[in-house]
Amino acid sequence: MTSMILPSKYGPPALFFTNEGEGHFRCRLCPHHCRMTEGQNGLCRVRGVREGIPRALCYGVISAAHADPVEKKPLYHFFPGETVYSIGGWSCNLACFFCQNWSISQDRPAEADRVTPAQIIHAAQANRCRHLAFTYNEPLIGYEFVLDTAKLARAAGVSTILVTNGFVEEEPAAGLLPWIDALNIDIKSMEDEFYRHHCRGTLEPILKFCRQAVGQGCHVEITNLVIPTLNDRPELIRQLARWISSELGHRVPLHLSAYHPDYECKLPPTTAAILTEAVRVAREELQFVYAGNLVESAEQDTSCPQCGNVWIRRRGYQVERVGLSGIECARCRHPFEGRIGDK
Ligand code: SF4
Repeated sequence: MTSMILPSKYGPPALFFTNEGEGHFRCRLCPHHCRMTEGQNGLCRVRGVREGIPRALCYGVISAAHADPVEKKPLYHFFPGETVYSIGGWSCNLACFFCQNWSISQDRPAEADRVTPAQIIHAAQANRCRHLAFTYNEPLIGYEFVLDTAKLARAAGVSTILVTNGFVEEEPAAGLLPWIDALNIDIKSMEDEFYRHHCRGTLEPILKFCRQAVGQGCHVEITNLVIPTLNDRPELIRQLARWISSELGHRVPLHLSAYHPDYECKLPPTTAAILTEAVRVAREELQFVYAGNLVESAEQDTSCPQCGNVWIRRRGYQVERVGLSGIECARCRHPFEGRIGDK
């Protein structure tokens, strides 16, 4: 990809800033509401004031680009088995001490080439992908680039996926969600204290964003990283599953994902036994619960909620349609729950 000449080397003007006078600006993109002046950045490191203007400093600065299975996002009910052109930017507005992607989420390059939204769409099409995912780091802090690219993607017949922590304010979310087709939203715990102590965030804005995404008609799946002793207690898993069921719907998929020691967290990895028990508890409340980050597990299969026929068998990222006839159950004709191609 080639770099693009932008009006300023610091990036284009950023949205959702308020001018508070005397050179101070406040960002209202996420609940941190950072206040900054010339030369300073927000907590996310990618939004700052330069040349007297709040700017999207990392507009079009990409950390990674790969064609991935949609299952890797993870999304199991959004065109299962298809390939997604996946791109990542830099940094994050949270600071989870157990981050599984910390080398890009807790840093950003001082200087880097930029790509344009059009180049991203062309790359997706060149890789034969009809879906584009913003993933690997927190996409919402790169709001302007995500919005511009998602609009172009829609016009080109490419769907847009966000893999996000959901820590964003309602107004910017309302402006972006009409352009987003599917989201995997991370709910790390149902305890606000967990977010405050371990993530430099709070819980309520994330729950609000989940409701908003479902309310605006997006396809939503939820991920919870299960960390031994931190958030793996059955009552917490049950609380999460009950909240999803009552607030988002009992057929919204939940991915309970195995953690491994990374970044500043030295706790032992999640065992298959812990994850299997968490899946069992969550299935008391929800129709579709999956175990993630385990190489071999029948807990990754999707079955018909009406007759129990296995629709899709997954072993790692090997995905096989075994019990569907087109877009419905081959046994009882119940329609696939979610979105799927008809082949
Ligand atoms: S998006 Fe970044 S700059 Fe804006 S409030 Fe959040 S952390 Fe601060």
